[in-house]
Amino acid sequence: MTAFRARFAPSPTGALHIGGVRTALYNYLLARQLGGTFILRIEDTDQTRYVPEAEGYIIEALRWCGIEPDEGPGIGGEYGPYRQSERKAMYGRYAEQLVASGNAYYAFDTSEALSAKRAAYETEKKTFRYDSSVRDDLDNSLAMDKAELHARLASGEAYTIRLKVPAHEIVKVQDLVRGEVQFNSDELDDKIMLKADGMPTYHLANVVDDRLMKISHVIRGEEWLPSTAHHVLLYRAFDWEDEMPQFAHLPLILKPNGKGKLSKRDGAKFGFPVFPLAWRGKTPEDAFDGFREFGFLPEAVNNFLAFLGWNPGTEQEIFSLEELISVFDSTKIQKAGARFDIDKAKWFNQQYIMATDNATLAASIRPLIKAKGHFPTDTFLEAFCGLMKERVTLIPDFWEKGYYFFEDIKKYEAKPVRKKWKPEMRPHFDNLVALLASIDTFDAETIETKTKAFIENNELRMGDILQIFRLAVSGTLKGPSIFDMAALLGKDEVLRRFEVAYARFDEMKSA
Ligand code: GLU
Repeated sequence: MTAFRARFAPSPTGALHIGGVRTALYNYLLARQLGGTFILRIEDTDQTRYVPEAEGYIIEALRWCGIEPDEGPGIGGEYGPYRQSERKAMYGRYAEQLVASGNAYYAFDTSEALSAKRAAYETEKKTFRYDSSVRDDLDNSLAMDKAELHARLASGEAYTIRLKVPAHEIVKVQDLVRGEVQFNSDELDDKIMLKADGMPTYHLANVVDDRLMKISHVIRGEEWLPSTAHHVLLYRAFDWEDEMPQFAHLPLILKPNGKGKLSKRDGAKFGFPVFPLAWRGKTPEDAFDGFREFGFLPEAVNNFLAFLGWNPGTEQEIFSLEELISVFDSTKIQKAGARFDIDKAKWFNQQYIMATDNATLAASIRPLIKAKGHFPTDTFLEAFCGLMKERVTLIPDFWEKGYYFFEDIKKYEAKPVRKKWKPEMRPHFDNLVALLASIDTFDAETIETKTKAFIENNELRMGDILQIFRLAVSGTLKGPSIFDMAALLGKDEVLRRFEVAYARFDEMKSA
């Protein structure tokens, strides 16, 4: 059996869309499962769309997700270089090889001539395609004798090399997800293989590199399925069909409403991330926060992405990367588009936050807390995470919902304060405060036992006392157990908060 070698082959044209991360993930999972190799290849032959920061972004995004390539730029490997721009010298030879075997030809048509053709077709409501039906009437080597060809090549005239797609043929693509997919070759254009500047197009470079890098499986997005017909023809033209990789085209990722492909504009429109990490392009419109900045954990993102187009066929939804590696099954990849459901992503995140140990969480929220100007001890921060982790969905929620552990309460919830605060109850609270002040071991259990005994002994109602206690300490009725909060904040702080709260409560009551 040939070794499993899969590649992720992004073009560095901007931020990597989350769909690209899913493609990388599926390639990675299968490579790990099958003891194979996962390769990163940067397809940077299109100079007009090249964005220098994009490669670094792609590498960082994969690293953040824990999807580390075995071979790639900056990593090395036997089949490098892994940036197509560094391989460009050799593609021309392959294009010439296609011409020599009669599978490609030189085309001298200028872009003006082709635009004029297109315009003429449009006036007749037709679409111009450079294909087998028209190629004989165009300015290419098929339509001229050898002498003319040599003269024109020798004169240095610009040319492209085009694939000569055979007429009237059914091109069959075997796809692991879709089964056999057929294309009528009359619908396929004579794609450019080598551009006038000597650079290969995506099609030529992609196929040549998959071959030279001994790629066994091409796993990529569905948008590349039509190109695969050309790729199959190329494998045939090179006489490489025996070792053609297996193809798997992953379903499209759809907008939340299921209508159409998810775009980067949807992120801005609906206020959710569609990129793994923040991206700052040249224009203000080309600036987005990613899953990382929104406060998602990479493990949750992987789990969410794994399910965007695949499921294990069981009820289980939570899978670590290791578990995904063992259960992932390419036969269970779906054909139908996968709806991007941000609420599901949040649900995954919540599950992962809850399952993460306090020390790890503390380390990941420390920068956030620091940015707010606070430098708690590890012990404090870990205990805080322990109290809050079942109550948050995204990392910033730790601050939003628990800021009062670090600084003064900004706002007391007005409705419950007005309803529950009865100034005539003040003597009881003074007694409670005195009782709290007398506790030596200020831990949650002691506070709870003493407070509850106090309520019972004074024939008070739990709700009346505990809700005010809670509002005084945190400003809100939501949150962790009041006894846990009080213990973590410490006796002095709790006593101080009561003093501050009394004044605020009286004001709010009379407002
Ligand atoms: N460079 C292509 C892209 O940007 C690669 C497609 C493929 O995997 O063949 O997605």
